[in-house]
Amino acid sequence: MTEQIYTPDVVIVGGGVAGLTVALNLAPRKVCVITKSSLGVNTSSSWSQAGIAASVDKNDSNEIHLNDTLKTAKGLANESVVRKIVSESANVIRDLENIGVQFDKNPDGSFNLGLEGAHSHKRIVGSKGDSSGIEIMRGLINEVKQSPHITILENVSIDSIMHEDNTIYGVIGRFTDKNIPNNHVVIQSSHIVLATGGLGGIFANTTNPRSSYGEGIALAAQIGATLTDMEFVQFHPTGLDFGLDPTPLATEAIRGAGAHLVNQNNERFMLGVHPEVELAPRDIIAQNIFQQIDKGNSVFLDCRNNIGEHFETQFPQVHSYCVKAELDPSKDLMPIIPVAHYHIGGVKTDLTGRTSVEGLWCCGEVAATGVHGANRLASNSLLEALVFGKIVAVEINKQPFKQQVEVVSSSFIKTYKEKTRSKIRAKKFIWQLRSTMMRNLGIVRNQDSIIRGLRDLIRIEREARGLSAKLNDMILVSKFIIVGALKRTESRGCHLRFDYPNEDNNFLKHIDQSQETLQKDLNSFLLEIDLTEEKFVAN
Ligand SMILES: Cc1cc2nc3c(=O)[nH]c(=O)nc-3n(C[C@H](O)[C@H](O)[C@H](O)COP(=O)(O)OP(=O)(O)OC[C@H]3O[C@@H](n4cnc5c(N)ncnc54)[C@H](O)[C@@H]3O)c2cc1C
Repeated sequence: MTEQIYTPDVVIVGGGVAGLTVALNLAPRKVCVITKSSLGVNTSSSWSQAGIAASVDKNDSNEIHLNDTLKTAKGLANESVVRKIVSESANVIRDLENIGVQFDKNPDGSFNLGLEGAHSHKRIVGSKGDSSGIEIMRGLINEVKQSPHITILENVSIDSIMHEDNTIYGVIGRFTDKNIPNNHVVIQSSHIVLATGGLGGIFANTTNPRSSYGEGIALAAQIGATLTDMEFVQFHPTGLDFGLDPTPLATEAIRGAGAHLVNQNNERFMLGVHPEVELAPRDIIAQNIFQQIDKGNSVFLDCRNNIGEHFETQFPQVHSYCVKAELDPSKDLMPIIPVAHYHIGGVKTDLTGRTSVEGLWCCGEVAATGVHGANRLASNSLLEALVFGKIVAVEINKQPFKQQVEVVSSSFIKTYKEKTRSKIRAKKFIWQLRSTMMRNLGIVRNQDSIIRGLRDLIRIEREARGLSAKLNDMILVSKFIIVGALKRTESRGCHLRFDYPNEDNNFLKHIDQSQETLQKDLNSFLLEIDLTEEKFVAN
């Protein structure tokens, strides 16, 4: 087997906003950034639309932004972490402008701010309407390419973290280009930053790139890292129901600009439900859309009167999706569905991005820093990724840098070989998993649906045993979501249970998990359910 070996000071898995921010702030340390695709491609960061929440208006303040975030988070946000990110928001915007990112401005030079649900002020700093992610990533990539301390490894997928006796050695992966057979890559370092993004890819309907299926969570869990809040998956109320995969997003800023939510009878079903009507928090909107669909209704965004002819200039990306679907948003209703959008939970970190495993750091969507609690306030995620990207870099810089071992132990190579087995036959099982997760662990859950999801996973695991490392990771991550969802017998934020419709103050706490606790938890749930059914047999 041929292998390429790199020995940077720090290895960063992920080239979205989080990973690139860490890399830039580590100068002059030697850094290696790894991305599964070409730089900027297939990242949520590039696909993000509205922009970054920042209290930069003179009538707004960090304190108001903090309060909006805490209110939306339903009692589970860590106030000091929220305070940190909101107080850094103006600096983050300034840093991006300094590297050439262009944000939308008014003629007087002030930011042309957008409004999104549950924000009490206009505070979304965006670019070219709904093209913020493209512009922010353009700026970051440009800067990264001019930074001699950064080596970029594109089209490389990391399969394992090399770890023994509580010591991290680096990561091992392979080129995703199938024309380079057996060509694997070893990156040795005592500091690994996971910035691998979210997990929407395990659900049948998602706005995320399909390559975002929680791989970073699986990598971290496999070496014993603590995870938390896995049950909190945020569903976006307005995916565009054009039959595309992934589902294109219609940014919340469209409702901020005045669009209404209606059903096929032209009824504004949010009227009388919440004082903020179409700008109520995402969980409330998503739940009401679900109820409409459950009644057999169709749901639409109506931009005809309040945005009309301005739609194309205000939201060019969404307009281009509509044109492809042969719809004119100034004249036609846009069909929508709720879709898996953002994962609040993930690898548990402290205030510096440090995980429970020495040498392993996390930031961006893969991390659970405590900012979002049980419900993320719109556009706080790019802000979190940018602020924590910098914090992680500063903290790593304070650490000792160990001399790297020269050889990769054979056990790591063995793991690697196991992980690269054939994928083709796994495809049908991957779709079965996505479908059961969407149906049973989607926007609304109950004990029966969660157990149905678990039962399906156990069957998929049995039938597809050893077929694909990707499927194994998806099963592992889904099981963590299932355990969290079973344990949280209440409804809070984006975790909505029909059988426990209210908040329960006994659950004003986080549900931590690890690979070690997972099997124990699953076994105890399996004992409670009817084992006489053939499908419940656990492996
Ligand atoms: C359509 C859409 C619109 C959004 N709009 C907004 C918005 O307006 N405002 C906002 O705040 N948030 C928004 N979000 C959320 C926000 O974009 C994400 O939370 C954020 O960009 C995550 O950044 P990240 O760097 O953590 O991950 P990503 O940007 O997803 O990057 C992940 C990186 O990890 C790499 N990777 C993953 N696994 C591996 C592996 N095994 N080996 C090697 N590389 C790997 C990928 O190749 C990629 O480079 C939106 C999300 C979507 C999907």
